[in-house]
Amino acid sequence: MSDIALLPAVSAFLARDHGLYIHGEQVASQASARLTVHNPANGQAIAQIADANQADVDRAVDSARQGFASWSRTSPAARARVLLRLADLLEAHREELAQLETLQSGKLIGIARAFEVEQAAHFLRYYAGWATKITGQTITPSLPSFAGERYSAFTLREPVGVVAGIVPWNFATMIALWKLASALTTGCSIVLKPSEFTPLTLLRIAELGSEAGLPPGALNVVTGAGHVGKALVEHPGTDKVSFTGSVPTGIAVGQAAMGAKLTRATLELGGKNAVAFLPDVGLDKAVDGIIEAGFLHSGQICAAGERFYVHRSRLEPLLEALCQRLGQLRIGSPLDEATQFGPVANKPHQQKLAELFATARAEGNRILHGGRLGDGPGCFVEPTVILANQASDTLLNQETFGPVATFLPYDHEDELLHLMNASPYGLSASLWTNDLAKAMRLIPQIQAGTLWVNMHTLLDPAVPFGGIKASGIGREFGSAFIDDFTELKSVMMRY
Ligand code: NAD
Repeated sequence: MSDIALLPAVSAFLARDHGLYIHGEQVASQASARLTVHNPANGQAIAQIADANQADVDRAVDSARQGFASWSRTSPAARARVLLRLADLLEAHREELAQLETLQSGKLIGIARAFEVEQAAHFLRYYAGWATKITGQTITPSLPSFAGERYSAFTLREPVGVVAGIVPWNFATMIALWKLASALTTGCSIVLKPSEFTPLTLLRIAELGSEAGLPPGALNVVTGAGHVGKALVEHPGTDKVSFTGSVPTGIAVGQAAMGAKLTRATLELGGKNAVAFLPDVGLDKAVDGIIEAGFLHSGQICAAGERFYVHRSRLEPLLEALCQRLGQLRIGSPLDEATQFGPVANKPHQQKLAELFATARAEGNRILHGGRLGDGPGCFVEPTVILANQASDTLLNQETFGPVATFLPYDHEDELLHLMNASPYGLSASLWTNDLAKAMRLIPQIQAGTLWVNMHTLLDPAVPFGGIKASGIGREFGSAFIDDFTELKSVMMRY
């Protein structure tokens, strides 16, 4: 098999002199610094982007303040219509956006098409539906009435203002669209800062946003390294931060937002997600489950399973079957539709995984499959299976964010619960069993923002998503996002 042909629109976009997207148009950055975007599948440079400076951030936030003034006054139905048009435009440009995404992130082209474009359009339409359904309450106060006066009260949900949306590299298009949709649905404007590794799709989507009917300033995009995100978070014109990324950066962002002026912040961070197999699960179902939980998109999913707990009586045959299955995966170019397993997203990430493999070896863990980097300039990492010795081993505690499943056996259910919950993180977990009565009893005892039973990783826009403990603050999706992107105003009247 071979790579698909790139669309002329993709080659033309890559060849552009990329600037920032401010006030409804591409503008040159005022910074001279440029960053190179590499294709992780072969290490080749594919584009140069601006590493924006403070003046660029000032300009983008100023534009977003103007955009907020007009966008927040549009009717909810008009906002919904623009978002629905943008969803249609995403689908109309499906192949172009998917190819760009694969080139910048190394994601398999099939995953880019299905998740970064089609699923993202589905999310956008879901959010658009909420625009006309954001409501307050009416309340009757019990205040004293001395001369027959009466009281009435109601609440309004008002958009919080200008949002700084800071995006990681793993689902650069879809996560940016979640933030964009949350902000625009509620009447906020947004300045998006994509990851320096994966900025290209968002620059293109900003153009589609204007085509869909967004007024100038409702959506701005500034590119660059972490300092650009920091400048946005600390900017006096920013009213809210919506951040998705690693725990250390998220904690720094949360502190900076609070320190700036109690700027509201939602933090969607990483984790060390637990996957538990009860002894009644069949071998094939368990292997399928581990691949779904740990190896989809090379494990570069915040909710991916990383700690796998298997009953001791089942461990050996399961590990043998898993290693055999992983050995059959077709590893190769993400632009080849026959490839089943591609590179990780960038060089620093590949190097981080190499260091974690060295740590696992140094701690005496058994690497049963993989554990090496690929040859050549691409950022390939073998799908890896590790058997740890004890719960305190590094690979059972530090997020790998890669194609690495680390296993530990358990003997009793109480021990399993203790192992699952003994983590500072709590983004997601999954429980695999055919005994749903037992699952229902265990569900309340497992500490996670999202708990799957007999499935893992898949997200739906109607189901709230977010972390507990050090995995974050706030929820996306469902109606939960409305609380985070609006302020509640109480109005009380005497008559
Ligand atoms: P990262 O924290 O390194 O970077 C995320 C973004 O923050 C990037 O755009 C980066 O430029 C920016 N940034 C860096 N320093 C900053 C600062 N001081 N102030 C403001 N912005 C700054 O994360 P990453 O490596 O891009 O992504 C991987 C991480 O993201 C993993 O830990 C993963 O678990 C997490 N993640 C979480 C979710 C979720 O929904 N909970 C989803 C996807 C990824």
